[in-house]
Amino acid sequence: MNRDDRKEQKKHSRKREAILRLIRSTGSHPGARWVYEQLKPEIPDLSLGTVYRNINLFRAEGDVAFLGVVRGEERFDGRVEPHPHAVCRRCGKIADLPEDIQAELFTGLPPGEPVRIPDFSLDMRNTVFYGLCKACLEETTA
Ligand SMILES: [Zn+2]
Ligand SMILES: [Zn+2]
Repeated sequence: MNRDDRKEQKKHSRKREAILRLIRSTGSHPGARWVYEQLKPEIPDLSLGTVYRNINLFRAEGDVAFLGVVRGEERFDGRVEPHPHAVCRRCGKIADLPEDIQAELFTGLPPGEPVRIPDFSLDMRNTVFYGLCKACLEETTA
């Protein structure tokens, strides 16, 4: 590896780390575009394609969870253990359900316990509730 390659490699892993750190530090369940917009001022040579590529790698390696497509955009979570979400139909906000509500919903199912469904081999669990967030609700009733 020559010096330029090593420099490229270093830049590459710096971007990778910044993307993962940001996804893990936010509770906003972001899409690639949000990640790109947040990091662009700090990493001027970042491209949206690089963000997509890295997120797909993290997803394949189990470092981020894929939540599904909300308002046309793939959304991700830095918290990888299964937990339920509430999605706003209007603005696309995704929120984790508060712990006490989770406990109520999943009584009898110890955390981390695999769910068994006859005749299926499950590899993903994604519980989603849909509705309107507080801000959108206030706007529609105002
Ligand atoms: Zn909303
Ligand atoms: Zn979450």
